[in-house]
Amino acid sequence: MALHIEKIAKSKISDVDFSKLKFGEIFTDHMFECDYENGKWQTPKIRPYQPIPFDPSAKVFHYGQAVFEGMKAYKDVNDDIWLFRPDQNQQRINKSAERLDMPAFPKEYFFEGLNELLKLDSEWVQKGEGNSLYVRPFVIATENCVSASSSTKYKFMIICAPVQLYYSGEVRVVFADKFSRSANGGVGFAKAAGNYAASFYPTRLAAEKGYQQIVWTDASTHEYLEEAGTMNVFFRVNDTLLTAPTSDRILDGVTRKSLLILAEDEGIKFEVRPITRKEIVEAARKGELKEMFGAGTAAVISIIKGFADGDESFELPEMEDSYAKRLKTRLTGIQQNKLEDKFGWRYKIK
Ligand SMILES: *Cc1c(COP(=O)(O)O)cnc(C)c1O
Repeated sequence: MALHIEKIAKSKISDVDFSKLKFGEIFTDHMFECDYENGKWQTPKIRPYQPIPFDPSAKVFHYGQAVFEGMKAYKDVNDDIWLFRPDQNQQRINKSAERLDMPAFPKEYFFEGLNELLKLDSEWVQKGEGNSLYVRPFVIATENCVSASSSTKYKFMIICAPVQLYYSGEVRVVFADKFSRSANGGVGFAKAAGNYAASFYPTRLAAEKGYQQIVWTDASTHEYLEEAGTMNVFFRVNDTLLTAPTSDRILDGVTRKSLLILAEDEGIKFEVRPITRKEIVEAARKGELKEMFGAGTAAVISIIKGFADGDESFELPEMEDSYAKRLKTRLTGIQQNKLEDKFGWRYKIK
């Protein structure tokens, strides 16, 4: 595969204070880019990270035809760089693209681009606990035309941001009873940019009431608990871990599916089935609800301290031996090449 590489004259890395990073604010020296036109993906290139000019009529600005991915790269004690199950992200961006009527991006371009970019910017992957490089592939519609139909031109890109441990403070959530993130037949399973835009307003209303996130419920009855903010959601009732099955409305998270495999491996009892708000509220009343947490690439596991269901609010207990901590230690240990990779999940940059 031909890949055109233009290197930066001088790295900006010495300007960066890696101890004071805000999530996703600073980007590395290079970016990967590939354009789709005349019915095919053109020669991909890597060039210095920089603004790109767009015509104001580019379709992405008007109709939100855009999908994205998120993954993390870690550097181990030997300076080797590892990604976690990038094949899953590669497949998912094309699944998302298909739903948004966008062309699939070739697998070999995806991996070649990822490899070369991470090699070029390897200094930006910092070692040490909590440090990683957040990798953001995305595709946008670039045809200059405001007619409401699929674009004939697209741009696929990968940009990378050094990040530290994602800590969002104490998280309390509110169960949604009016707004929805997704619906049957909709785009909730896809990482479509607009899903996020649609969640910001309800999330702000929740924040004004002191809740950092929303637990999204099914759009038709609001009786089933489906996702937490931009993460999949898990509950522990007594000793059983619960999470909802993926569907049209629930995103098939790589963290979620990996945690289920690890739970099985750890001998943790779990059930994948629809979860009602009623059973969770009842479990909380009886003191049987032990844990609630979100699962996603950025935070890996985000512990939820409390929740509101209508006018009632509940606090969760402080757990000594929590499933969240146990599973997070195991998962991040594998991601960082500190623990055995029993399932062949790590991918080495070479
Ligand atoms: C990205 C995302 C997740 C988490 O997926 P991971 O692959 O674990 O990062 C969960 N829910 C939604 C809505 C998402 O967009």
